[in-house]
Amino acid sequence: MYLTYYNGEWTEGNTPLVGAMDHSVWLGSSVFDGARALHGRLPDLRPHLQRVIDSADKLGMRCPLSVDQMEALVREGVAKFPPDAELYIRPLVFASEGFLIPVPDKASFVLTLFDAPLPPFTGFSSCLSTLRRPDNSMAPTDAKASALYANTSRALREAKARGFDNAILLDAAGKVTEFASSNLFLVTADGVVVTPALNGTFLAGITRARVIALLAAEGVQVQERSVQVEELATAREIFSTGNYGKVTPCTRFEAHEMAAGPVAQRARELYLAFTETT
Ligand code: PMP
Repeated sequence: MYLTYYNGEWTEGNTPLVGAMDHSVWLGSSVFDGARALHGRLPDLRPHLQRVIDSADKLGMRCPLSVDQMEALVREGVAKFPPDAELYIRPLVFASEGFLIPVPDKASFVLTLFDAPLPPFTGFSSCLSTLRRPDNSMAPTDAKASALYANTSRALREAKARGFDNAILLDAAGKVTEFASSNLFLVTADGVVVTPALNGTFLAGITRARVIALLAAEGVQVQERSVQVEELATAREIFSTGNYGKVTPCTRFEAHEMAAGPVAQRARELYLAFTETT
């Protein structure tokens, strides 16, 4: 079921929102975020809501709701589902008026919740994409902007055509960034846990930050540094973090096969235990 809050009311289904002249449809000014409800728990909901406000701001839009107001709506919406529901929570801000430049105060807010079971801890395969992540001088990489997902879709279509589930993208300088729609961690041949340092070319994932903190609390330091593509072919483990799947193991990168390893397994357990505290 899709449940949508828009303009003061809740509706079911694929609620229509925009007009033919809306800036968001014509010129791509829409930002969103993805959070989750897992049987009533709302891990890191507020950072996800804050990021919608920040993303809107980066695209010249003012989110009409505060974090508190959005949180109240999320709680109201989640309560309309069964208590054990596993939901995707998608707040979105889009511009209605403006020609080329959106009118900041004419941005609308819409919140959609839908059933999305947490994917199981099974492995996925990934190729190396021929596409690159742009930097912030080339695209609004500091926002979770819908416009960025045109390239995500291109990378995934290319991966599927090659028989892979996902794609790893490099930045313009040839360094490893992330998967198509989630962040990347690896465990080196020497057992060091590494994730690419934030460099403005990929999303500063909220799950990424949470996993780094959870592992650190267990005494496992994650090195945030620049990652060479060659390291992927010798990694003991590669795994992804992101709101949708939380922690999921990559068990094949190109021809390199890996087990769903203990670090990914532990990170997933820690994340799910953290969820229970929220
Ligand atoms: N990178 C991209 C491109 C994404 O779409 C997502 C999913 N939001 C992530 C990383 C993971 O970010 P987060 O942990 O904040 O969901």
